Amino acid sequence: MIYLDNGATSFPKPPEVARAMAGALNRCANPGRGGYPAAMEAARAVYRCRSLAGALFDCPPEAVVFTGSCTQGLNMAIRTLVRPGARVAVSGFEHNAVTRPLHALGAELVVAGRRLFDWEDTLTRFRDALRSGVDAAVFTHVSNVFGYILPVEEMADMCREWKVPFVVDAAQSAGTLPVRLGRWGADFIAMPGHKGLLGPQGTGLLLCGRLPEPLFQGGTGSESRRPDMPDFLPDRGEAGTLNVPGICGLAEGIRTVSRLGLDTIHRREAEQAALCAQGLEKLGLRPFFGPHQGGTVSFLPEGDCEAAAETLARHGIAVRAGLHCAPLAHESAGTLETGTVRVSFGYKAAPWQTQAMLQAAEALKGGNVNIL
Ligand code: PLP
Repeated sequence: MIYLDNGATSFPKPPEVARAMAGALNRCANPGRGGYPAAMEAARAVYRCRSLAGALFDCPPEAVVFTGSCTQGLNMAIRTLVRPGARVAVSGFEHNAVTRPLHALGAELVVAGRRLFDWEDTLTRFRDALRSGVDAAVFTHVSNVFGYILPVEEMADMCREWKVPFVVDAAQSAGTLPVRLGRWGADFIAMPGHKGLLGPQGTGLLLCGRLPEPLFQGGTGSESRRPDMPDFLPDRGEAGTLNVPGICGLAEGIRTVSRLGLDTIHRREAEQAALCAQGLEKLGLRPFFGPHQGGTVSFLPEGDCEAAAETLARHGIAVRAGLHCAPLAHESAGTLETGTVRVSFGYKAAPWQTQAMLQAAEALKGGNVNIL
């Protein structure tokens, strides 16, 4: 199988990840819960991962809160910044992990910038939204459906200028593009550990520029006499036993990313996405592509997207079809009724993968998706 669904999760993981997880199961007890060697080993391992993440994301290790997913981090961040019924600026490309927590709070969404690959539109509309008066902003760094890389540095500058607190969803950029808590001055940046950071499923990070409101209350191994959660990082955001094997695996994933370098990973992925888009265009399969695009490309076959993905799967190509949990992005692109087929490259992106994908895609030409 040629795996081109890295937007969902990276696969396969570097072999060091599994080795580190097995090692943690054999060596680590509960971090912060004892002074004996196995608990201390766990505490050191967790701190190593925090430090690696802090170095990569321009923040102190303590600002890194471990979560179980990007979704968990986004919920914590949004619940901290957004009061029920608040007005919140979002981009036109948000995932349900942003829009559903906002909906649950009864927030009024001000959708800013719906044109794909168009920084001018994104920035103009975003400025208009801030000017109109919003209580907070939440925006994705990269669209998980279309690979559109939003101008987040400029959007962050605007938020600081207008004194609007903001959250960045770095689900599709962490591990491929620079993400900087300090430089951006974000209140929060949420990310999964299991996509571009190459860690295992069940891991995530919330980078905190301020104290979060905890999603969960419980034991932290610190200030145990207090009836409420500690008022310092990272403990405030980390109730309960941490996923130590997952965190040890994630540390190896982050090491792999740091060793390869963000530039190399991004270039590899974006090059293959561009080649893939060109090939799909030649086949008449209507890809969405443009400037500011990362390693993901969506396309529209003649027939049903799910059937197209199934045909590709029968040819050994793993891609995803449908709405990709991002109806807002599809509404913006005009594909809400059809969905798209999404091809998302990973850190080992190479021309042979693109070639195999395009060869398989020939089976979709002319809408004849059931040729087998
Ligand atoms: N935000 C975006 C843009 C995503 O693509 C995803 C996952 O696909 C998420 C948030 C949620 O990530 P997780 O599945 O780790 O909660």
